[in-house]
Formats: sequence, C-alpha cells, structure tokens
Amino acid sequence: MKSSDAYWWTAAPLSPLPEAPVPPSADVAIVGAGYTGLSAAITLARAGRSVVVFDRQLPGEGASTRNGGITSGNIRPSQAQLASRFGQARADAIQAEAKAAREDLYRFIADEEIDCDFKLVGRFSGAATPAAYERLAREADRLAQTLGVESYAVPRAAQRDYLGTGYYLGGSVRMDIGGLHPAKLHAGMLRVALASGAQVHGRTAVRGITPDGDLHAVDTARGTTRARHVIVGTNGYTDSADKWLRRRMVPVRSRIIATAPLSPNLMGALMPRQMMCSDSRENHYYYRPSPDGTRILFGGRDGTIAGDPEWPTEALRRALVGLFPELEDVALSHSWFGHVAMNRDMVPRIFSRAGRRYAAGYCGSGVVWARWAGQKAAWQVLGEDRGASALYFRPPAAVPLFNGTAWFMPAVFGWMTVKDWIGARQRPK
Ligand SMILES: Cc1cc2nc3c(=O)[nH]c(=O)nc-3n(C[C@H](O)[C@H](O)[C@H](O)COP(=O)(O)OP(=O)(O)OC[C@H]3O[C@@H](n4cnc5c(N)ncnc54)[C@H](O)[C@@H]3O)c2cc1C
Repeated sequence: MKSSDAYWWTAAPLSPLPEAPVPPSADVAIVGAGYTGLSAAITLARAGRSVVVFDRQLPGEGASTRNGGITSGNIRPSQAQLASRFGQARADAIQAEAKAAREDLYRFIADEEIDCDFKLVGRFSGAATPAAYERLAREADRLAQTLGVESYAVPRAAQRDYLGTGYYLGGSVRMDIGGLHPAKLHAGMLRVALASGAQVHGRTAVRGITPDGDLHAVDTARGTTRARHVIVGTNGYTDSADKWLRRRMVPVRSRIIATAPLSPNLMGALMPRQMMCSDSRENHYYYRPSPDGTRILFGGRDGTIAGDPEWPTEALRRALVGLFPELEDVALSHSWFGHVAMNRDMVPRIFSRAGRRYAAGYCGSGVVWARWAGQKAAWQVLGEDRGASALYFRPPAAVPLFNGTAWFMPAVFGWMTVKDWIGARQRPK
C-alpha cells in the first residue's frame, strides 16, 4: 500500500512542539518555520535578539521536509537571460552567490553537526535532445572556467559509467552539488534555533500584520506579538494573510515517488555513482538514490492544483520506467507532493515592503537558497554588511490574473508535456 506521506517522515517525523503562550513582544517576528524562517531565527537569536517564529502548520510541514534534498542552488534563467534582464554585473554576482551559498550550507551542516546524511556526490544532468547536450556541455565549461567548479560534459558513449540508462544523448556532471535528507536537515535547524533561544510556535497561523507606531503588530491565531522587525518566509505556502505576496508567488506542485527497496545489484547498475540527477526536459525530472542507497526517489512536476488524484503518480512512474525499463514492475512505496514557489522572473529573492523583509521565490531550489536567503535577511535586520546580496532588489512583479489559485498550471503542464512529446519524436535513435 503506497503512502502519501513524504518518505523522509519515516526517519524524521514531523512532531509538535510543546504549546507555549505567544509572547506580547519580540525584537523580530518571523512567519514560517521552514528553512528560511529557521535560518533567520538562528542568526538573529545568536546575535542576542529575542525572536519568535510562527508557523500555521507543524514546523517543517511545508516544502522543507518534503523536497528531494538535492543541494542544487539552481538559477532557472541562463546566464545570458540574467545579463539581459538585470545587467552583467548582477548576473555574475548571482552566479557567484550560488557557489557561496552551497559552500556555506556545507559548512553550516558540519559546524552544527547536523546529521542529515549529506554527501557531496555530484550531479549528473541528462540531455534529452542534441541541443540540450550542447547547452549542458557549454554550461559545464563555463562553470569550470569562471567559477572553478569541477564540471564536465559526458558523451553518450560514457553515460553508463554515471547512470544506467540509454535514454539520454549524453549529459554533464558537476561535483559541487550533493544530496541530503531534507527532513533531518530541518530537524537539525529546528534544534539549533531552539538551542539558540528562538521561540518557535507551530500550528499558530499569522492572520495579519499591521503597523503599530514603530512596531509591527503580528496578529496570530493564539495572540498578538508586537515586534520591531518582521521577516516573512512563507514561500510556496503563502496564504491570504498576505495577499500582496500571494499575487507574486505562484505555488506549483512538485511530486516525488519512491520505489520499494531494489537489490544492491540493480541499484549498482542503475546508479553506479549514487549521484543526484536532473533532466533537460520541460517537465524537469529530478531523481536520486535514497540516502541508504536502496531505492530511487524520482520527482517532477505534478500538474494538478486540487485533491490528490492518482494520474500524476502514474505519469512519474512512466517517466521513471522510460529511463530504466528494468523498473517496469517495481512497486512504489510513497508518492507525495509539496509546493514550490515560482515568481515572474524566476530569480530567488530578498526584498522589503512596508518595513517587512521577505525571502522567497526559490523556484524549486530552496535547500541551498532558503537557508542562505533567511540568513541574509537576518543580517540585513541586524544592519550588518554581510547582509548585502545580489538577490536583494525590487520585489517580484505581481502575476497577472492570479490571486492565489494557480488555475493556469494544468494548462502549463499540458503544454510542457506536449513539448516533451514533440522533442522525444525528433530525437535521433
Ligand atoms: C516535492 C518537492 C521537491 C523539492 N526538491 C528540492 C530539491 O531537491 N532541492 C532544492 O533545493 N529544493 C527543492 N524543493 C524546494 C524546497 O523544498 C523549498 O524551496 C524550501 O523548502 C523553501 O523553504 P521555505 O522555508 O522558504 O518554505 P517552506 O518550507 O515551504 O515553509 C513555509 C512555511 O510557511 C508557513 N506559513 C505560510 N503561511 C503562514 C501564515 N499565514 N502563518 C504562519 N505560517 C505560515 C507554512 O505553513 C510553511 O510551513 C522541493 C520542493 C518540493 C515541494
């Protein structure tokens, strides 16, 4: 029987914190107890500020314990697109910051002794078309030359050294990306935040924030806190309590399926290097071995906006079998989804409005970005120079005709599926 809970919750279950009264005041109130909120809380509490974090669900119940655990730190637009939209200087600074953010996460995990199964195994990106192979090879060269990242193209003839599939037309490898157990990372961050003195209140929705003299009155379901500063880290779970942000963050469902345990021989043949993987297709599959190396966790866009129908699981299973025909009859143990937040220009962001700081819009790459952006937002609140960031600029624009329900996503998903189907028909055999 397949579970709709995240595979990760078996080893790191979501658990309620003891209920405590909401404090009447705090230096900083933070909305959202995912990676963003906890990262900000750790930085601020360690600087001696009184910090209160509110989450309307259990801490971590948003994307931060549901994700693939791939430390991608991706930026969706290409370097050329970034340069034409924001100028060469910001484009270069964003890329350099992605490198710094990954390295900072790895340091944080080691320094705080967070046992989250982190391994810097590298990532293989598979090219589904000849043009994608050219693009991946160019990008690997650029990364090696400009940022000194160990990255290289893998021609089709050498592909099976990395991944047991004949599907791709080659790919690329970069060794600065690894995998971790996302729920264990979150649990570790929660432990560090509490030990640093932050108060964290689960199942405490923020219903609204209003100016109150120099302060912000943060109205929650269990009482009001007056705070000098507010940081909002609600990302893909932003609700109607912040209608302004909700028009800017499109919640997109991403789904992961987990196979039942596979034999060591089969795992060795399919994933000989235990690398993290991504795919150049529009539906952007991402996949990896489980941290214990016994299963494959395979993720991609879900395409639905309501309920929990079976067909997205079946669509992912078909895509998995398309790569690895050996898995035709394999049972699935889990299939779950969560929300990533897309914004109009697809660049993760830190921004300010009405005296509040926001960090959001990681476009499916928040394992690196959310922790980094939360920390940066906290340094900005502290007035520290190290709060400077290439991600800090104007807020993302509102999405036309969108007020919280991503009604257009099924059509977008359908269009991407058609494009992938056309791409597959044009592939050389
Ligand atoms: C299936 C899936 C796979 C993914 N895979 C990867 C991956 O492999 N690599 C990667 O880098 N990223 C991945 N991501 C993205 C990553 O998980 C997110 O970018 C990251 O977790 C965002 O962290 P966050 O703290 O900003 O938001 P979240 O963890 O989503 O937390 C936001 C919180 O805000 C709370 N909230 C919302 N409104 C209110 C309110 N009014 N009052 C109080 N609380 C509120 C919510 O309850 C929620 O807990 C994936 C995401 C999903 C869903």
